Amino acid sequence: MPRTDEVLADPRLVEAAGRVGRPAVKQAVVAAQGRARAGEIDQSAVADEAVAALPVRGASLGPVVNATGVLLHTNLGRAPLSAAATEAVVAAAGPTDVELDLATGRRSGRGLGMLAALAAAVPDAEAVHVVNNGAAALVLAATALAMGREIVVSRGELVEIGDGFRLPDLLTSTGATLREVGTTNRTALADYTAAVGESTGFVLKVHPSNFVVTGFTADVPVAELATLGVPVVADVGSGLLTPHPLLPAEPDAASALRAGADLVIASGDKLLGGPQCGLILGRADLVHRLRRHPMARALRVGKLTLAALEATLRVPPTPTARALEARQEDLLARADRIASSLRDRGIDAVATTSPATVGGGGAPGVTLESAAVRLPESYVERLRLGTRPVVGRVAGGACLLDLLAVPESADESIVDAVVAATG
Ligand SMILES: *Cc1c(COP(=O)(O)O)cnc(C)c1O
Repeated sequence: MPRTDEVLADPRLVEAAGRVGRPAVKQAVVAAQGRARAGEIDQSAVADEAVAALPVRGASLGPVVNATGVLLHTNLGRAPLSAAATEAVVAAAGPTDVELDLATGRRSGRGLGMLAALAAAVPDAEAVHVVNNGAAALVLAATALAMGREIVVSRGELVEIGDGFRLPDLLTSTGATLREVGTTNRTALADYTAAVGESTGFVLKVHPSNFVVTGFTADVPVAELATLGVPVVADVGSGLLTPHPLLPAEPDAASALRAGADLVIASGDKLLGGPQCGLILGRADLVHRLRRHPMARALRVGKLTLAALEATLRVPPTPTARALEARQEDLLARADRIASSLRDRGIDAVATTSPATVGGGGAPGVTLESAAVRLPESYVERLRLGTRPVVGRVAGGACLLDLLAVPESADESIVDAVVAATG
């Protein structure tokens, strides 16, 4: 049996130790020696076996191709970063001037470039602030403006975000009390008027971003809530900063502010197409109270997020915006090229139209006309388990690889992955 230190001197394993850490390399060598001892592999193959078993990077998170047809898939990390945002993250990875004014050598405000970019993107906001995610923005607003007071909110807007987390629990965890008004399907201005009073911290308007209520329904728009004489906080969810022509029912920050919202809250990694973060936009005095609240420090974002968000805002379009505007005929042409190159290799593949969705990040009930490559159903699992995983979906007894959320540059790697999964 080759000795452990001899195997570890193999140049491939020395290189791997720098990438994934020496403990992982040693573990792989010991496991390979075990297999050799058991007669499963030859003793001369111990180093090869260890090299093959090693992970390719230090972190277990790796890239996957989102061929699910869900544009913002929470399980796949929601919005992919743009090339500019990705470069900004890499540039900020080492020491960076996040709180230093290089001109004077003095300490500066944190993330001023990002805040300026956000303010420029939403001129209707007097002030802006960014925290860890949409939920953190809500928690900060509730804590700073309604602790020991009431948040007035419609029963139709007390939503579960996902993974068992519910807005009412989140809000009351801050020490605020919920004053529920109206019913599941209908809430009127009079319901709010009757509830608003001395103890009101703010009125909260939540966009139901992952379900649709249809039929006998009514809700109160921000413009009417703004007449109540108390602060109105609008959680628009999706992070659209301005109206989107393809998503007319989706609320946006600029419109909510113009309608009279005092604060708008939104996520950064949904339709905005940026990193995970929570935007807080609106009245200068309220934003200042949130920013200076002690809890703000616990919710602040890291330098990598500041870098990614600023680049997302300054260098449009994002991959999410591009995907939203993709034309079905172009997607179908791509699906055709992929399918025909697979058929050339004897694989049963056809191009088909496919209904895609925005996902949990917004626009519930909206269908985006997309296109997909259809393969036998067993490919769904085989592609998920490949070295560069491709995540498709099962529909009608087939595996569909929907191209809406796939950048064209990944088409070739889809072909390679399907060929590899066929062998
Ligand atoms: C997504 C969403 C949230 C939660 O935002 P995170 O960024 O996921 O924390 C809150 N409210 C609404 C309306 C949402 O759509």
